[in-house]
Amino acid sequence: MNTRAGGRSERVRRDFERIHGRAPEGVWAAPGRVNLIGEHTDYNDGFALPMALPQAAVAAVGRRTDGLLRLHSAQGDGRVTELRVADLAPGTVPGWARYPAGVVWALRERGLAAGGADLHLDSAVPTGAGLSSSAALECVVAVAYEELYGLGLGRPELARVAQYAENAFAGVPCGVMDQMASVCCAEGSALHLDSRSLEVRQVPFDLGGHGLRLLVLDTRVKHDLADGAYAALRAGCERAAGLLGLPALRDLAEAELDGALSRLPAELVPLVRHVVTENGRVERAVARLADGRPEALGPVLTEGHASLRDDYGVSCAETDLAVEAAVAAGALGARMTGGGFGGSVIALVRAGEAARVTAAVTQAFTAAGFGAPAALEAVPSAGARRVG
Ligand code: ADP
Ligand code: MG
Repeated sequence: MNTRAGGRSERVRRDFERIHGRAPEGVWAAPGRVNLIGEHTDYNDGFALPMALPQAAVAAVGRRTDGLLRLHSAQGDGRVTELRVADLAPGTVPGWARYPAGVVWALRERGLAAGGADLHLDSAVPTGAGLSSSAALECVVAVAYEELYGLGLGRPELARVAQYAENAFAGVPCGVMDQMASVCCAEGSALHLDSRSLEVRQVPFDLGGHGLRLLVLDTRVKHDLADGAYAALRAGCERAAGLLGLPALRDLAEAELDGALSRLPAELVPLVRHVVTENGRVERAVARLADGRPEALGPVLTEGHASLRDDYGVSCAETDLAVEAAVAAGALGARMTGGGFGGSVIALVRAGEAARVTAAVTQAFTAAGFGAPAALEAVPSAGARRVG
Protein backbone atom coordinates (compact mmCIF):
# COMPACT_ATOMS: atom_id res chain seq x y z
CA MET A 1 0.00 0.00 0.00
CA ASN A 2 2.56 2.52 -1.13
CA THR A 3 -0.05 4.53 -2.98
CA ARG A 4 -1.35 7.94 -2.12
CA ALA A 5 -4.73 6.37 -1.50
CA GLY A 6 -3.19 4.03 1.09
CA GLY A 7 -1.50 6.97 2.78
CA ARG A 8 -4.78 8.83 2.96
CA SER A 9 -6.76 6.03 4.53
CA GLU A 10 -5.93 6.97 8.14
CA ARG A 11 -7.18 10.50 7.65
CA VAL A 12 -10.35 9.32 5.95
CA ARG A 13 -10.95 6.90 8.84
CA ARG A 14 -10.52 9.71 11.42
CA ASP A 15 -12.81 12.04 9.46
CA PHE A 16 -15.42 9.28 9.26
CA GLU A 17 -15.29 8.91 13.06
CA ARG A 18 -15.77 12.65 13.55
CA ILE A 19 -18.65 12.88 11.07
CA HIS A 20 -20.51 9.65 11.83
CA GLY A 21 -19.62 9.27 15.54
CA ARG A 22 -18.45 5.65 15.19
CA ALA A 23 -15.60 3.66 13.68
CA PRO A 24 -15.87 2.52 10.04
CA GLU A 25 -15.59 -1.17 9.18
CA GLY A 26 -12.97 -0.48 6.53
CA VAL A 27 -11.53 1.95 4.00
CA TRP A 28 -11.52 1.33 0.23
CA ALA A 29 -10.06 3.15 -2.76
CA ALA A 30 -11.00 3.26 -6.46
CA PRO A 31 -8.97 5.26 -8.99
CA GLY A 32 -9.74 7.66 -11.79
CA ARG A 33 -8.35 6.77 -15.21
CA VAL A 34 -6.93 8.00 -18.45
CA ASN A 35 -7.73 6.13 -21.61
CA LEU A 36 -4.63 5.62 -23.77
CA ILE A 37 -6.64 4.80 -26.89
CA GLY A 38 -10.08 3.40 -27.76
CA GLU A 39 -12.45 6.37 -27.30
CA HIS A 40 -16.21 6.07 -27.89
CA THR A 41 -15.72 2.39 -28.62
CA ASP A 42 -17.10 0.88 -25.41
CA TYR A 43 -20.77 1.47 -26.22
CA ASN A 44 -20.08 -0.10 -29.63
CA ASP A 45 -18.96 -3.33 -27.91
CA GLY A 46 -15.37 -2.50 -28.96
CA PHE A 47 -11.92 -2.24 -27.44
CA ALA A 48 -10.13 0.26 -25.21
CA LEU A 49 -6.82 0.61 -23.40
CA PRO A 50 -7.25 2.62 -20.20
CA MET A 51 -4.92 2.80 -17.20
CA ALA A 52 -5.68 3.79 -13.62
CA LEU A 53 -4.34 7.03 -12.18
CA PRO A 54 -2.68 7.31 -8.78
CA GLN A 55 -5.50 9.72 -7.90
CA ALA A 56 -8.34 7.77 -6.31
CA ALA A 57 -11.63 8.14 -4.49
CA VAL A 58 -11.16 6.84 -0.94
CA ALA A 59 -14.19 5.92 1.18
CA ALA A 60 -14.57 4.79 4.78
CA VAL A 61 -17.75 2.75 5.18
CA GLY A 62 -19.63 1.04 7.97
CA ARG A 63 -22.90 -0.91 7.63
CA ARG A 64 -26.10 0.25 9.33
CA THR A 65 -28.92 -2.06 10.38
CA ASP A 66 -31.74 0.53 10.12
CA GLY A 67 -31.80 0.76 6.30
CA LEU A 68 -30.41 4.30 6.19
CA LEU A 69 -27.70 5.45 3.81
CA ARG A 70 -25.82 8.44 5.27
CA LEU A 71 -23.39 10.00 2.78
CA HIS A 72 -20.72 12.65 3.29
CA SER A 73 -18.00 13.93 0.96
CA ALA A 74 -14.92 15.95 1.87
CA GLN A 75 -15.47 17.69 -1.47
CA GLY A 76 -19.18 18.28 -0.77
CA ASP A 77 -21.08 21.02 1.02
CA GLY A 78 -20.37 19.76 4.53
CA ARG A 79 -23.80 18.18 4.97
CA VAL A 80 -24.66 14.53 5.45
CA THR A 81 -27.21 13.31 2.89
CA GLU A 82 -29.58 10.82 4.53
CA LEU A 83 -31.55 8.40 2.35
CA ARG A 84 -33.62 5.29 3.03
CA VAL A 85 -32.32 2.43 0.85
CA ALA A 86 -35.81 0.94 0.43
CA ASP A 87 -37.03 4.24 -1.07
CA LEU A 88 -34.20 4.72 -3.60
CA ALA A 89 -35.52 5.30 -7.12
CA PRO A 90 -34.07 6.94 -10.27
CA GLY A 91 -34.65 10.68 -10.34
CA THR A 92 -35.17 11.03 -6.58
CA VAL A 93 -31.61 11.83 -5.44
CA PRO A 94 -30.06 15.13 -6.54
CA GLY A 95 -26.39 16.14 -6.68
CA TRP A 96 -23.36 13.98 -6.07
CA ALA A 97 -25.21 11.56 -3.75
CA ARG A 98 -26.91 10.03 -6.81
CA TYR A 99 -23.70 8.21 -7.72
CA PRO A 100 -23.17 6.29 -4.45
CA ALA A 101 -26.93 5.93 -3.88
CA GLY A 102 -27.24 4.66 -7.45
CA VAL A 103 -24.80 1.83 -6.75
CA VAL A 104 -26.78 0.69 -3.71
CA TRP A 105 -29.98 0.92 -5.78
CA ALA A 106 -28.41 -1.05 -8.66
CA LEU A 107 -27.27 -3.80 -6.28
CA ARG A 108 -30.76 -4.05 -4.81
CA GLU A 109 -32.29 -4.12 -8.31
CA ARG A 110 -30.30 -7.34 -8.81
CA GLY A 111 -31.96 -8.76 -5.75
CA LEU A 112 -28.80 -8.52 -3.66
CA ALA A 113 -28.94 -7.86 0.07
CA ALA A 114 -27.39 -4.37 0.04
CA GLY A 115 -28.53 -2.53 3.14
CA GLY A 116 -27.74 0.80 4.75
CA ALA A 117 -24.36 2.32 5.54
CA ASP A 118 -22.52 5.35 6.81
CA LEU A 119 -20.02 6.59 4.26
CA HIS A 120 -17.37 9.29 4.13
CA LEU A 121 -15.72 9.98 0.78
CA ASP A 122 -12.53 11.84 0.02
CA SER A 123 -11.46 11.87 -3.63
CA ALA A 124 -8.27 13.14 -5.24
CA VAL A 125 -9.67 12.65 -8.76
CA PRO A 126 -10.37 16.07 -10.28
CA THR A 127 -14.09 16.29 -11.08
CA GLY A 128 -15.42 16.99 -14.55
CA ALA A 129 -11.91 16.72 -16.05
CA GLY A 130 -12.59 13.63 -18.14
CA LEU A 131 -10.65 11.54 -15.61
CA SER A 132 -13.71 9.63 -14.38
CA SER A 133 -14.24 10.97 -10.91
CA SER A 134 -17.82 9.69 -11.20
CA ALA A 135 -16.72 6.10 -11.93
CA ALA A 136 -14.17 6.26 -9.08
CA LEU A 137 -16.97 7.27 -6.73
CA GLU A 138 -19.31 4.51 -7.94
CA CYS A 139 -16.61 1.85 -7.88
CA VAL A 140 -15.36 2.63 -4.39
CA VAL A 141 -18.90 2.13 -3.12
CA ALA A 142 -19.29 -1.06 -5.16
CA VAL A 143 -16.12 -2.70 -3.80
CA ALA A 144 -16.92 -1.66 -0.23
CA TYR A 145 -20.43 -3.16 -0.49
CA GLU A 146 -19.09 -6.28 -2.19
CA GLU A 147 -16.95 -6.99 0.85
CA LEU A 148 -19.17 -5.69 3.66
CA TYR A 149 -22.34 -7.35 2.42
CA GLY A 150 -20.60 -10.48 1.08
CA LEU A 151 -22.15 -10.06 -2.38
CA GLY A 152 -19.79 -12.37 -4.29
CA LEU A 153 -20.24 -10.51 -7.59
CA GLY A 154 -16.61 -10.37 -8.74
CA ARG A 155 -14.84 -7.62 -10.62
CA PRO A 156 -16.43 -7.27 -14.06
CA GLU A 157 -19.90 -7.59 -12.53
CA LEU A 158 -19.13 -4.83 -10.02
CA ALA A 159 -18.19 -2.59 -12.95
CA ARG A 160 -21.49 -3.48 -14.68
CA VAL A 161 -23.41 -2.55 -11.52
CA ALA A 162 -21.55 0.77 -11.30
CA GLN A 163 -22.25 1.49 -14.98
CA TYR A 164 -25.92 0.63 -14.49
CA ALA A 165 -26.03 3.07 -11.55
CA GLU A 166 -24.59 5.84 -13.74
CA ASN A 167 -26.91 5.02 -16.69
CA ALA A 168 -30.19 4.30 -14.98
CA PHE A 169 -29.93 6.16 -11.67
CA ALA A 170 -27.68 9.17 -12.40
CA GLY A 171 -29.00 9.43 -15.98
CA VAL A 172 -25.64 9.47 -17.80
CA PRO A 173 -25.60 7.09 -20.83
CA CYS A 174 -21.90 6.13 -20.50
CA GLY A 175 -20.33 2.87 -21.69
CA VAL A 176 -18.54 0.47 -19.34
CA MET A 177 -14.91 1.51 -19.88
CA ASP A 178 -14.56 3.96 -16.99
CA GLN A 179 -15.93 1.52 -14.43
CA MET A 180 -13.93 -1.42 -15.81
CA ALA A 181 -10.75 0.67 -15.61
CA SER A 182 -11.44 1.72 -12.03
CA VAL A 183 -12.22 -1.81 -10.90
CA CYS A 184 -9.83 -3.96 -12.99
CA CYS A 185 -6.63 -1.98 -13.63
CA ALA A 186 -3.34 -3.12 -12.09
CA GLU A 187 -0.24 -1.21 -11.10
CA GLY A 188 2.32 -0.99 -13.91
CA SER A 189 -0.12 -2.01 -16.64
CA ALA A 190 -2.67 -0.69 -19.08
CA LEU A 191 -5.91 -2.66 -19.36
CA HIS A 192 -6.86 -4.17 -22.72
CA LEU A 193 -10.63 -4.23 -22.47
CA ASP A 194 -13.13 -6.06 -24.65
CA SER A 195 -16.33 -4.17 -23.88
CA ARG A 196 -18.54 -6.99 -25.20
CA SER A 197 -17.26 -9.92 -23.19
CA LEU A 198 -15.68 -7.80 -20.42
CA GLU A 199 -12.57 -9.90 -20.87
CA VAL A 200 -9.49 -7.98 -19.80
CA ARG A 201 -5.78 -8.41 -20.27
CA GLN A 202 -3.10 -6.57 -18.28
CA VAL A 203 -0.60 -5.07 -20.73
CA PRO A 204 2.67 -4.09 -19.00
CA PHE A 205 3.28 -0.37 -19.54
CA ASP A 206 6.70 0.57 -18.18
CA LEU A 207 7.02 4.27 -18.81
CA GLY A 208 9.92 4.95 -16.44
CA GLY A 209 12.01 2.03 -17.70
CA HIS A 210 11.84 3.50 -21.20
CA GLY A 211 12.62 7.07 -20.12
CA LEU A 212 9.06 8.18 -20.81
CA ARG A 213 6.37 10.11 -18.96
CA LEU A 214 2.68 10.48 -19.62
CA LEU A 215 1.43 13.98 -18.91
CA VAL A 216 -2.19 14.83 -18.25
CA LEU A 217 -3.17 18.39 -19.10
CA ASP A 218 -6.61 19.27 -17.77
CA THR A 219 -8.01 22.10 -19.90
CA ARG A 220 -10.48 22.88 -17.07
CA VAL A 221 -13.26 23.42 -19.58
CA LYS A 222 -16.35 21.32 -20.04
CA HIS A 223 -18.62 22.54 -22.81
CA ASP A 224 -22.36 22.26 -22.22
CA LEU A 225 -22.87 20.23 -25.36
CA ALA A 226 -21.42 17.18 -23.66
CA ASP A 227 -24.48 15.28 -22.39
CA GLY A 228 -26.87 15.68 -25.32
CA ALA A 229 -24.15 15.21 -27.92
CA TYR A 230 -22.96 11.99 -26.29
CA ALA A 231 -26.42 10.46 -26.42
CA ALA A 232 -26.82 11.56 -30.07
CA LEU A 233 -23.49 10.00 -31.07
CA ARG A 234 -24.39 6.79 -29.34
CA ALA A 235 -27.74 6.68 -31.11
CA GLY A 236 -26.00 7.36 -34.45
CA CYS A 237 -23.66 4.42 -33.94
CA GLU A 238 -26.55 2.13 -33.05
CA ARG A 239 -28.47 3.25 -36.13
CA ALA A 240 -25.45 2.60 -38.36
CA ALA A 241 -24.97 -0.90 -36.93
CA GLY A 242 -28.67 -1.57 -37.54
CA LEU A 243 -28.48 -0.39 -41.16
CA LEU A 244 -25.47 -2.63 -41.72
CA GLY A 245 -27.25 -5.59 -40.14
CA LEU A 246 -24.66 -5.91 -37.38
CA PRO A 247 -25.18 -6.37 -33.64
CA ALA A 248 -22.72 -3.50 -33.02
CA LEU A 249 -20.02 -1.53 -34.89
CA ARG A 250 -17.49 -3.80 -33.20
CA ASP A 251 -18.56 -6.43 -35.74
CA LEU A 252 -17.34 -4.36 -38.70
CA ALA A 253 -13.72 -5.23 -39.59
CA GLU A 254 -11.35 -2.54 -40.82
CA ALA A 255 -10.96 -4.46 -44.13
CA GLU A 256 -14.74 -4.20 -44.75
CA LEU A 257 -14.94 -0.52 -43.85
CA ASP A 258 -14.98 1.07 -47.31
CA GLY A 259 -17.73 -1.20 -48.61
CA ALA A 260 -19.82 -0.57 -45.50
CA LEU A 261 -19.40 3.20 -45.67
CA SER A 262 -20.72 3.26 -49.24
CA ARG A 263 -24.01 1.80 -47.95
CA LEU A 264 -24.56 4.40 -45.21
CA PRO A 265 -26.15 7.87 -45.22
CA ALA A 266 -23.49 10.61 -45.31
CA GLU A 267 -24.05 11.76 -41.72
CA LEU A 268 -23.18 8.33 -40.31
CA VAL A 269 -20.01 7.80 -42.39
CA PRO A 270 -17.56 9.71 -40.16
CA LEU A 271 -18.97 8.13 -36.99
CA VAL A 272 -18.50 4.61 -38.31
CA ARG A 273 -15.05 5.43 -39.70
CA HIS A 274 -13.94 6.68 -36.29
CA VAL A 275 -15.21 3.69 -34.35
CA VAL A 276 -13.77 1.08 -36.72
CA THR A 277 -10.35 2.73 -37.13
CA GLU A 278 -10.23 3.40 -33.38
CA ASN A 279 -10.68 -0.30 -32.62
CA GLY A 280 -7.75 -0.88 -35.00
CA ARG A 281 -5.67 1.69 -33.16
CA VAL A 282 -6.24 -0.16 -29.88
CA GLU A 283 -4.89 -3.34 -31.44
CA ARG A 284 -1.87 -1.49 -32.84
CA ALA A 285 -1.17 0.16 -29.48
CA VAL A 286 -1.33 -3.18 -27.68
CA ALA A 287 1.03 -4.72 -30.26
CA ARG A 288 3.55 -1.91 -29.78
CA LEU A 289 3.48 -2.32 -26.02
CA ALA A 290 3.85 -6.09 -26.39
CA ASP A 291 6.91 -5.43 -28.60
CA GLY A 292 8.44 -3.40 -25.76
CA ARG A 293 8.13 -0.16 -27.75
CA PRO A 294 5.95 2.16 -25.65
CA GLU A 295 7.42 5.21 -27.41
CA ALA A 296 5.77 3.94 -30.60
CA LEU A 297 2.37 4.66 -29.01
CA GLY A 298 2.95 8.33 -29.79
CA PRO A 299 1.75 8.40 -33.43
CA VAL A 300 -1.22 6.18 -32.55
CA LEU A 301 -2.34 8.72 -29.95
CA THR A 302 -2.05 11.67 -32.32
CA GLU A 303 -3.86 9.80 -35.08
CA GLY A 304 -6.63 8.94 -32.62
CA HIS A 305 -6.99 12.61 -31.76
CA ALA A 306 -7.35 13.56 -35.41
CA SER A 307 -10.10 10.97 -35.78
CA LEU A 308 -12.00 12.31 -32.74
CA ARG A 309 -11.60 15.86 -34.04
CA ASP A 310 -12.31 15.38 -37.74
CA ASP A 311 -14.62 12.34 -37.83
CA TYR A 312 -16.31 12.05 -34.47
CA GLY A 313 -16.53 15.78 -33.78
CA VAL A 314 -16.01 15.61 -30.02
CA SER A 315 -12.88 17.71 -29.65
CA CYS A 316 -12.92 21.46 -29.01
CA ALA A 317 -10.60 24.44 -29.43
CA GLU A 318 -8.89 23.88 -26.07
CA THR A 319 -8.14 20.17 -26.52
CA ASP A 320 -7.04 20.70 -30.14
CA LEU A 321 -4.67 23.46 -29.07
CA ALA A 322 -3.22 21.39 -26.22
CA VAL A 323 -2.51 18.48 -28.59
CA GLU A 324 -1.05 20.73 -31.26
CA ALA A 325 1.18 22.64 -28.84
CA ALA A 326 2.36 19.46 -27.09
CA VAL A 327 3.32 17.76 -30.36
CA ALA A 328 5.00 20.94 -31.67
CA ALA A 329 7.05 21.09 -28.46
CA GLY A 330 8.34 17.55 -28.97
CA ALA A 331 5.74 15.23 -27.42
CA LEU A 332 5.86 11.78 -29.06
CA GLY A 333 2.08 11.92 -29.37
CA ALA A 334 -0.96 13.46 -27.72
CA ARG A 335 -4.74 13.17 -27.70
CA MET A 336 -7.83 14.17 -25.81
CA THR A 337 -8.93 11.48 -23.37
CA GLY A 338 -12.46 10.81 -22.15
CA GLY A 339 -15.74 11.73 -23.79
CA GLY A 340 -14.62 15.10 -25.15
CA PHE A 341 -15.96 18.67 -25.42
CA GLY A 342 -13.25 19.71 -22.99
CA GLY A 343 -11.62 17.71 -20.23
CA SER A 344 -8.06 16.46 -20.40
CA VAL A 345 -5.35 15.77 -22.95
CA ILE A 346 -2.64 13.14 -22.49
CA ALA A 347 0.83 13.66 -23.94
CA LEU A 348 3.50 10.97 -24.16
CA VAL A 349 6.90 12.61 -23.72
CA ARG A 350 10.54 11.73 -23.19
CA ALA A 351 11.18 12.30 -19.49
CA GLY A 352 13.58 15.18 -20.09
CA GLU A 353 11.03 17.07 -22.16
CA ALA A 354 8.10 17.01 -19.75
CA ALA A 355 8.66 20.49 -18.38
CA ARG A 356 9.17 21.97 -21.84
CA VAL A 357 5.98 20.41 -23.21
CA THR A 358 3.91 21.56 -20.21
CA ALA A 359 5.31 25.08 -20.51
CA ALA A 360 4.61 25.17 -24.26
CA VAL A 361 0.97 24.15 -23.76
CA THR A 362 0.55 26.70 -20.97
CA GLN A 363 2.06 29.41 -23.18
CA ALA A 364 -0.17 28.51 -26.11
CA PHE A 365 -3.22 28.68 -23.82
CA THR A 366 -2.21 32.12 -22.55
CA ALA A 367 -1.67 33.36 -26.11
CA ALA A 368 -5.14 32.08 -27.10
CA GLY A 369 -6.79 33.72 -24.08
CA PHE A 370 -7.59 30.36 -22.39
CA GLY A 371 -7.05 29.77 -18.66
CA ALA A 372 -3.92 27.80 -17.74
CA PRO A 373 -4.35 24.01 -17.84
CA ALA A 374 -3.71 21.94 -14.70
CA ALA A 375 -0.91 19.40 -15.11
CA LEU A 376 -0.84 15.93 -13.56
CA GLU A 377 1.25 12.90 -14.30
CA ALA A 378 -0.28 9.55 -15.19
CA VAL A 379 1.50 6.55 -13.66
CA PRO A 380 -0.20 3.18 -14.26
CA SER A 381 -1.72 2.48 -10.84
CA ALA A 382 -3.77 -0.08 -8.97
CA GLY A 383 -7.51 -0.61 -9.44
CA ALA A 384 -10.12 -0.62 -6.71
CA ARG A 385 -9.04 -2.25 -3.45
CA ARG A 386 -9.23 -2.15 0.33
CA VAL A 387 -6.69 0.28 1.83
CA GLY A 388 -7.49 0.27 5.53
P1 ADP B 1 -15.83 13.02 -14.56
O1 ADP B 1 -16.32 11.65 -14.27
O2 ADP B 1 -15.14 13.12 -15.87
O3 ADP B 1 -15.01 13.60 -13.46
P2 ADP B 1 -18.63 13.60 -14.40
O4 ADP B 1 -19.43 14.80 -14.75
O5 ADP B 1 -18.99 12.30 -14.99
O6 ADP B 1 -17.11 13.98 -14.70
O7 ADP B 1 -18.66 13.39 -12.83
C1 ADP B 1 -18.42 14.47 -11.94
C2 ADP B 1 -19.45 14.40 -10.82
O8 ADP B 1 -19.15 13.31 -9.95
C3 ADP B 1 -19.42 15.62 -9.93
O9 ADP B 1 -20.22 16.67 -10.46
C4 ADP B 1 -20.02 15.06 -8.64
O10 ADP B 1 -21.44 14.98 -8.71
C5 ADP B 1 -19.48 13.63 -8.63
N1 ADP B 1 -18.25 13.55 -7.80
C6 ADP B 1 -17.04 13.12 -8.20
N2 ADP B 1 -16.14 13.16 -7.18
C7 ADP B 1 -16.81 13.63 -6.11
C8 ADP B 1 -16.47 13.93 -4.74
N3 ADP B 1 -15.23 13.75 -4.29
N4 ADP B 1 -17.42 14.40 -3.92
C9 ADP B 1 -18.68 14.60 -4.38
N5 ADP B 1 -19.05 14.37 -5.63
C10 ADP B 1 -18.16 13.88 -6.49
MG1 MG C 1 -17.85 10.63 -15.38
